[in-house]
Amino acid sequence: MQLYEIRECKAEECQFRFPAAAGDPAGLRCPHCGAATTLVATPQAGGAPSLQTAPRFTRLELLLDNIRSLYNVGAILRTADGASIRHLHLGGITAPPTHPRLAKTALGAESALSWTQHRNSVHAVSQLKSAGYLIWVLEEGETAVNLFTTPLPATANQPILLVIGNEKVGVDPAIQQLADCTLALPMSGVKNSLNVAVAFGIAIYQIQFG
Ligand SMILES: [Zn+2]
Repeated sequence: MQLYEIRECKAEECQFRFPAAAGDPAGLRCPHCGAATTLVATPQAGGAPSLQTAPRFTRLELLLDNIRSLYNVGAILRTADGASIRHLHLGGITAPPTHPRLAKTALGAESALSWTQHRNSVHAVSQLKSAGYLIWVLEEGETAVNLFTTPLPATANQPILLVIGNEKVGVDPAIQQLADCTLALPMSGVKNSLNVAVAFGIAIYQIQFG
């Protein structure tokens, strides 16, 4: 594993502080002013998680309905792994975990997850619903309930499909019609929605560990 160190600029008027790979000559010079730097701390990152917690739902699967951004897909994959998502469904234009540009944001999580690609997300949701899955949609809307204050309507071992939608248009309206439950995050601010990967991260941690 690559070791890192925290370095600090020795120039009294600068004192720029930053992480650098141990032994990397780039760490010897201040990125701000170019003066020499000194080692000030050795971080202890990368160990096992200190809070290993069992998830609430053991048969939770995730459908990414037409997520356009590779950055968002990568961030979602990493979070999905952390929250014990059992299987991924990738609908429409959503890039598969094997996409070469995904590995950088997913940081290895892409190889830990099993996944299925679907040309048509609505068909996929219909089939899973017929197979007994509860369909949960993360979306704003009149029928949406507050994820933080509403008890989740499922037992621990029920199969559940959580659907998150496209950055611009959200979850496909036909999928919203198939939903057993529409979950939304409380909002306070000028913008009426969050980045999709951020919203997913908040939602899945509340669903699994909240
Ligand atoms: Zn400096």
